[in-house]
Amino acid sequence: MPRSGPRRKQIVLIAHDNKKADMLEWARFNRDTLARHDLLGTGTTGSMVADELGLPVHRFLTGPLGGDQQVGAAIAEGRIDVIIFFWDPLEPHPHDVDVKALLRIAVVHNIPMACNRATADFILSSPLIDEAYPRSLDALGVTTPTV
Ligand code: PGA
Repeated sequence: MPRSGPRRKQIVLIAHDNKKADMLEWARFNRDTLARHDLLGTGTTGSMVADELGLPVHRFLTGPLGGDQQVGAAIAEGRIDVIIFFWDPLEPHPHDVDVKALLRIAVVHNIPMACNRATADFILSSPLIDEAYPRSLDALGVTTPTV
């Protein structure tokens, strides 16, 4: 059961504290591409990217207070097309279970998700970023709500 994604993507940006500088540098470098899409982010990351790029960023709660879970819910509702999540593999976090849940639900829904800069570069430079993409949801075995 494919779900045809829009050409203009809903792109979520999340970075753990040790990765926020990386995220801002990456976002600055890719500003022209990001500007063609709708940006969303967890609270602090979203604010920093909005300031850095001068672009609107829809902000969920900060990660430790439920932002990752809100992103997960938006994925389950079919409202997210791409995730750029620079999580920190070298530090434990109080919301590690939320992070794990987010990674899981993103895989379940076959969302393209970058967890490091190299993958983020590959995703953003793919021709598919500006095309409608029929994302297969066969693994779900259910009809995804259209929101
Ligand atoms: P933040 O949340 O962008 O509000 O810092 C990110 C996270 O810790 O998951």
